[in-house]
Amino acid sequence: MLSATLVSAQDILPTRCASTERDSVRLAKNPSLRNLRMKSEEAIQEHIRARAGARTTAEIITIPVVVHVIHNRTDNVTGGVGNGNISDAQIRSQIEVLNEDYSNTSGYKGFYTDSLAVDTGIRFKLVSVVRTYNATNQFSPITDADKLAEISPAWFTNRYLNIWVTRLNDRYLGTSQFPVVTEINSRTNGLSTTENEEKDALTDGLIIDFRYFGRNSETITSKIYNLGRTTTHEIGHWLGLIHIWGDATCGTDYCDDTPVANTKNETTDITCSPVYSQCRANVVTRNMIENYMDYSPDICMSIFTNDQKERMHAVLELSPRRAKMVEYSKITSDQLMVDLYPNPVRETLTANVFTPQPETYTVSVFNQKGQQILEDAVNRTYLNVKNFPSGLYYYKVKTANQTVTKRFVVR
Ligand SMILES: [Zn+2]
Repeated sequence: MLSATLVSAQDILPTRCASTERDSVRLAKNPSLRNLRMKSEEAIQEHIRARAGARTTAEIITIPVVVHVIHNRTDNVTGGVGNGNISDAQIRSQIEVLNEDYSNTSGYKGFYTDSLAVDTGIRFKLVSVVRTYNATNQFSPITDADKLAEISPAWFTNRYLNIWVTRLNDRYLGTSQFPVVTEINSRTNGLSTTENEEKDALTDGLIIDFRYFGRNSETITSKIYNLGRTTTHEIGHWLGLIHIWGDATCGTDYCDDTPVANTKNETTDITCSPVYSQCRANVVTRNMIENYMDYSPDICMSIFTNDQKERMHAVLELSPRRAKMVEYSKITSDQLMVDLYPNPVRETLTANVFTPQPETYTVSVFNQKGQQILEDAVNRTYLNVKNFPSGLYYYKVKTANQTVTKRFVVR
């Protein structure tokens, strides 16, 4: 029994998740985001209350995933201990893990699993792996999202979940970008007008250290974080979930069916021993260490609750980029489609682009005289037109096989 609980010294506690730290940095840079975040929280809760019990269908939402492998290996060898150029098999194993965890078929039974674990109705499909060499040894999960997105640009974040897999510094396992959530109305439908949002769209997704991505790979040497649940956890954040201890002593995660917890379950105990909290006088509760939004060892995790499921679906409906992604995931047309908002435009033009195949596209913009204003930008979502002279313009989107040109007017 004792030997089973022992793990090697070097394995002891890297930091599971940098999402909260990364968010703090973003909030410090952009104070208005804090206000937006509070409004987001109100919108989520309002939405959940309004639709309580309304979603009865067993509809499954499938999220298309693009994995960006950024490695510093100069030969083409993939896989092996210490090699950031991870194998296709390791990448596929991560998608398997996600589909098991989000469908409540992970197999592990903890104290709360039978009574409170649900199928989230969310699934994942790998659509592309992009491999890029870069000499950088390691990246910060907190401040290097821009850098990674420059090295391997996100595929259209209104359509795909982008995951950058690389070596992270400071022993972090992974991080993600929280969603911006607004009530979708005529003004926000596909439209986000702030410059911050333009930038955020370029880095929207996850960053995961390659040594904790997937399972059953010799590249994964940890005995604690070895079953791919770092990515399960980070996608939870990307869909608006909060750590179950609410990032505070006995804090809230806005989900009533995750018992209040004193703090995170950050431990080397891979036997999943019970942990208890006393958040109110004389009331002892058993922590839900099986929850994917705790810090527990991978082997101890098996639960998303119904409230967490409702929260994720609220975000999928309320966050403009996530909602568009769901809409596109249901289209089966073979036509390239381009919608421009608003039109006429004064400041920021948003382009929603549907490509029939999972592929990148380029954007070029011309003025009325046929002069090119923007040349072959990859996957451009937002275009700042503040400095464009008033007039008519042409927005040309090109994939490998199709081209669509739309007109827009700058006032
Ligand atoms: Zn986290």
